[in-house]
Amino acid sequence: MIHLRSAEEIEILRENAILVSKTLAEVGKSIAPGIKTKKLDKIAEEFIRDHGAIPGFKGYGGFPATLCLSVNDVVVHGIPNEYELQEGDIISVDCGTILKGFYGDSAYTFAVGEVDPETELLLKTTEESLYLGAAQAIDGNRLGDIGHAIQSYCESKGFSVVRELVGHGIGKDMHEDPLVANYGKSGTGKRLKEGMVICIEPMINIGVKDIYQKEDGWTVCTQDGKKSAHFEFTVAIKKNKPEILTTFDYIKGIKTY
Ligand code: MG
Ligand code: MG
Repeated sequence: MIHLRSAEEIEILRENAILVSKTLAEVGKSIAPGIKTKKLDKIAEEFIRDHGAIPGFKGYGGFPATLCLSVNDVVVHGIPNEYELQEGDIISVDCGTILKGFYGDSAYTFAVGEVDPETELLLKTTEESLYLGAAQAIDGNRLGDIGHAIQSYCESKGFSVVRELVGHGIGKDMHEDPLVANYGKSGTGKRLKEGMVICIEPMINIGVKDIYQKEDGWTVCTQDGKKSAHFEFTVAIKKNKPEILTTFDYIKGIKTY
């Protein structure tokens, strides 16, 4: 079932979204060659707890950490570990919070030092597609309008869209209805209504769209080993314009990617 949120509930979701945004920026400050992904996870957990919230991912479905940290060909759900970031890597930092009984959930893909031009274009395209998808997230439109906007843009740049993993509604649970696919046909799917709050999260690959899951039961990788990017934010559906609750401004104050 799809929940319609009151103005008060949307404000709490915004508080969560802002805290996740600040956490991503805090983690972003430390992203550089040589740092272990486990260390980034510790920074995020401390930051979230210092702000009176609880990490939303830790223990969710048994996930063992505060962040999903997904390097290069890892699409999503990478587990923080002893790996030391290297110049030219990309890392998706996906973070959740629980504050005042509601969830926050957002992701950003950072470059580690300098990346090659194709990778840079992947990051730029994936982030831009998020805003193109959000522009369709208004009352009266349909879910397919969001998916179509993301898919057509990313494919026009020569990239591919992961099919098996999608965005979602968010509220008192992290993953609520509806499913928000990053592909689809305009004018199809469920109709969007004022008060719905959704997470849009394109996962875009340089090579093939196909993925597989590792034996740890979490880590999702591209089938061909090529890089994948992931950006996510939370949007409240309104009458005439989307209201993006998350902001990447804290990150952009530090670095572009
Ligand atoms: Mg997420
Ligand atoms: Mg999500």
